[in-house]
Amino acid sequence: MAQPRVLILGAPGAGKGTQSSKIASEFDVEHVTTGDALRANKEMDISEMDTEYDTPREYMDQGELVPDEVVNAIVDEALSQADGFVLDGYPRNPEQAEELEEMTDLDVVLSLDVGEEELVHRLTGRRLDPETGEIYHVEYNPPEDPEVKERLEQREDDTEETVKERLRVYRENTKPVIDHYDEQGVLERVDGEQAPDEVWEDVKATIEDAA
Ligand code: AMP
Repeated sequence: MAQPRVLILGAPGAGKGTQSSKIASEFDVEHVTTGDALRANKEMDISEMDTEYDTPREYMDQGELVPDEVVNAIVDEALSQADGFVLDGYPRNPEQAEELEEMTDLDVVLSLDVGEEELVHRLTGRRLDPETGEIYHVEYNPPEDPEVKERLEQREDDTEETVKERLRVYRENTKPVIDHYDEQGVLERVDGEQAPDEVWEDVKATIEDAA
């Protein structure tokens, strides 16, 4: 497989972003992530789409899903420009999964499995360095440099209240998508509670085996 088409699934905080970046550089594929794309376009005017709110920000800050119409267009555009890719953060409900089926075939479907208690701990402790984009955790991975520590920020949707809502939305909308791929017999599960390097070994081996 020259350039694999990889779908990575899992709850918020399961480590999809971290593992996707590694996949993108190891296998020389595009990292297509709806979360980052939406964060970069939070103030986009979507009022013409007959949606409840006028910008993605209002959905994201509450932990709700941005309407399918907006997200489908982002993914369709990104995938049409990529030979191989790792798709991260999409599909998040069965309707998006159907859309994706129309857009492309997949070579590997991965699920990063992490228990809910650990997810809450990871997300609420996550901090971002606004200058470098580097991600830290207050307990698991604090920065050594006091200057960096001083400027760390929390993502607006990583507060406890919004995290709980995001996990509820995950259970209700995204979990059925994972179950669907599982029932089709194409889902490769990786234990996402291992150390990041161990998760990466399993992820890499799973993609190589599918080649
Ligand atoms: P993430 O960084 O993947 O956790 O995404 C952050 C937020 O962006 C989510 O809580 C949603 O509000 C929005 N979002 C990301 N991907 C999607 C998607 N596929 N469908 C709808 N909303 C999404």
